[in-house]
Amino acid sequence: MALITPPKYVRQVLTTLQARGHLAYLVGGCVRDMLMGVHPHDWDVCTSALPEQVMEIFPRSLPLGIRHGTVTVVIESRQVEVTTFRSEGSYSDHRHPDAVSYVGDLTTDLSRRDFTMNAIALPPDGLVADPFGGVQDIQDKIIRSVGDPDRRFEEDALRMFRALRFSAKLGFRIEEQTAAAIIRQAPLAAGLSPERVRDEVEKLLLSPRPERMDELIAAGLLDAYLLHRLPAYATLYRLNAVPRKTLFRWAMLSELLEEQGCIRAAEDFLLRLRLDSRTIRCCSDCAAILRLPTPARPVEWKRQLNQYGVEAVTCAARCRDALQGGSSYRALRSVLNSGECFSMKHLAVTGDDLLAIGLRGPALGDMLQFLLDYVMEFPENNRRDLLLSLAGGSEE
Ligand code: ATP
Ligand code: MG
Repeated sequence: MALITPPKYVRQVLTTLQARGHLAYLVGGCVRDMLMGVHPHDWDVCTSALPEQVMEIFPRSLPLGIRHGTVTVVIESRQVEVTTFRSEGSYSDHRHPDAVSYVGDLTTDLSRRDFTMNAIALPPDGLVADPFGGVQDIQDKIIRSVGDPDRRFEEDALRMFRALRFSAKLGFRIEEQTAAAIIRQAPLAAGLSPERVRDEVEKLLLSPRPERMDELIAAGLLDAYLLHRLPAYATLYRLNAVPRKTLFRWAMLSELLEEQGCIRAAEDFLLRLRLDSRTIRCCSDCAAILRLPTPARPVEWKRQLNQYGVEAVTCAARCRDALQGGSSYRALRSVLNSGECFSMKHLAVTGDDLLAIGLRGPALGDMLQFLLDYVMEFPENNRRDLLLSLAGGSEE
């Protein structure tokens, strides 16, 4: 397997801890990625040093996750998460360990991790520590729970989402026992906070295989958010036909679920999953636009842009192309590239201009709207003199 070399600042964290007499290893996702020849997006270190000792060795560190033994070390203006070897107590809420205790050995720390591929540690010099066979599982492209999968999912139900998300991201298959335990333990997902569920679903939607959402749903992991699961014949493969953008993928998922009667409307589905208000607004506008006929002329695109805004119309055009084929997005782009006016902001006259020629109150608003409608139809006439004369005044 190709092995990526960690950058200097990361090696420095490891060697400094070692020089002070502590054990220190790279661990988790970064080791998995390195073993796969992929550049890690962040670096996690585990160590025998206690959090206070880490803080003392690296005075510029931040105690952001200190409750769980994690200290964020700032080095060369980069951040490295350094976590003390720990074990976790019982999980009475299926989400958080009741108690975290620090342990002196690496294997105990690795045994609390979710999957074998994420339970490999790499010292700055020397051989990988791989007590659960994670290297072999990476080679075989297998996601396997560390220890008994039913117990591990009972401890933290989010691990079931993580299994499917990694499977979609890496193209690995989920080992049989682990997969069977997901089906058995899926009802525990109802107890997870919507924010954690949302973050995992979003990562899956942005993976190279977003259509694997259908497995998440078939397993029952989203039951708490759906009226019913997808019918057996329904697939979500069209998710892949919209570009890999958060907004597009949430809008498309909502659309496909609504089409199958799994949700009532995008708005309440996304609200319950605690999406931000801008995404919710945009996805529900997108759903409304998709119920309208496809604009056939530039003026119709402009009316839509005026009513719903560029983001929602773009999102709907992307979804429409993915659902029905066609070239809605291309048509929209050409309207946008034309620079033609579709909002009051770009109208050649302003409310002040109309005030100056004596218009007031509702008559002024109506006139602005009339002029905008006119200019959307006849873009070449977006000229101040002409619009003022249309409004009943003349340019001064
Ligand atoms: P990513 O590429 O998404 O960052 P990652 O494996 O680094 O993948 P993180 O959420 O950053 O995932 O977690 C870092 C490590 O912490 C994991 O590799 C795993 O060892 C451990 N871990 C994270 N979440 C859990 C969990 N819910 N249960 C057990 N171990 C976990
Ligand atoms: Mg990570």
